[in-house]
Amino acid sequence: MARTKIVATIGPGSAHPETIRRMLAAGMTVARINFSHGDHAWHTQTVNMLRDVAREEGKVLAILGDLQGPKLRLGHVKAGGMMLSPGDEVVLTPHPGQPAMIHLPHPDLIAAAVPGSRLVIGDGEVEFTVAEKRDDTLRCLVTVGGLLESRKGVNAPGVDLAISSITDKDRVDLELISELDFDYVALSFVRSGHDIQELRELMAHKPRQIPVIAKIEKSEAIHNLIAIRDAADGLMVARGDLGIEMPPQELPLLQKHIITVCNEAGKPVITATQMLQSMVDHPRPTRAEASDVANAILDGTDAVMLSGETATGNYPIESVLMMQQIAEITERAFPYDVWRDRRVKKMGHDSVTEAIGEASCTIAEDISAAAIVSTTQSGYTAQQIARYRPRIPILAVSPLPYTQRKLALVWGVETLLVSDFADTDTMIDETARVLRERGFEAGQRVVITAGIPFRQSGLTNLLRVYTI
Ligand code: PGA
Ligand code: MN
Repeated sequence: MARTKIVATIGPGSAHPETIRRMLAAGMTVARINFSHGDHAWHTQTVNMLRDVAREEGKVLAILGDLQGPKLRLGHVKAGGMMLSPGDEVVLTPHPGQPAMIHLPHPDLIAAAVPGSRLVIGDGEVEFTVAEKRDDTLRCLVTVGGLLESRKGVNAPGVDLAISSITDKDRVDLELISELDFDYVALSFVRSGHDIQELRELMAHKPRQIPVIAKIEKSEAIHNLIAIRDAADGLMVARGDLGIEMPPQELPLLQKHIITVCNEAGKPVITATQMLQSMVDHPRPTRAEASDVANAILDGTDAVMLSGETATGNYPIESVLMMQQIAEITERAFPYDVWRDRRVKKMGHDSVTEAIGEASCTIAEDISAAAIVSTTQSGYTAQQIARYRPRIPILAVSPLPYTQRKLALVWGVETLLVSDFADTDTMIDETARVLRERGFEAGQRVVITAGIPFRQSGLTNLLRVYTI
């Protein structure tokens, strides 16, 4: 199996036990439930089904709930749509049922738009430029002509909306995500670190604080990238909306930048959208798509994501398998040496855990260890090892199933569940036992990191070389 993790969106094309079973076998490690679609009954039923199948198969599967966020959409457009040509004039109104105008049910957007603002409809099939604001309507010129249809997404690049990034729908969905104890929650259209704080505050009284992924898909998020990264537990390069909000020609370098800032903090990053898009309808990807997946991995992404390919596509299993195979082959040529040199040159660490994470890689290399083993409560130490992309296996040993699932998103980390341990000797015994089970042999050396006292997270202070 590849060391790169694979996120697959679950939808009508894949929400069947047999399909999920085969997607797990093909290499899916994270299932994404997109709250832009489906109702709570469907979400609940799907989550239960995913857990049942993963349990039956003895696989670790993390479940990520993706909140829709303030996604803007057109209202109702007459049946069959409206064909628009460049130069046509249209009027957008927040009020429904006005035959001469187009319904845009977002007064905040109309208020924030100014003459010259661009409104991009759908994937860019149609584009308007605001010519004039008149009362609560916008007079626009069609700059890109095409078929305008009901409920199409609307992006207004650079228009600063005075609305929260967390909508009422998101709040209700977050309740379900907490109730069903998802492993990750992703927030769409994040603009600042404050948005992430707001989401965490909504979970503060819950029994468990679900790790938060910030979806980077607005220009404001690019400007506030470091603050968002520091506030979140991981990022998603959400290329679908980001490629509309920002010029598509800037996407490749933005992707590399977002990935790099995550690597630098030891936080997981997902590269998303259209990775194998043509596999929605075809059993094989285009050459460009195969290269795209490989290049994201070479950039240092932790995970690659499938959206429509698995949610509604005709080849969900083939898509996961193709991604897994591209990853596996690409990893053979992963520039481990470049990452090692970068690691060796790095001086100064923010914490003891980071320093031990780095040192464990160096020692493991020096003594040709068979693996780096991280006994971990929160998974943080394993992330601090993974960020350096060591060539040898990283094994995270934890008594906590949710930590095991959390690490299903982190590059290169395999997890082993152990019974809880209270002292070093039991920890070593338990670790040795699971390593032998995993196929390691007597005489092989491993580097083990741990924190003492146990059961406390964020306190790695021990590094030991152990011979099995
Ligand atoms: P979405 O997010 O699929 O929820 O829109 C991903 C993206 O925009 O790329
Ligand atoms: Mn999006």
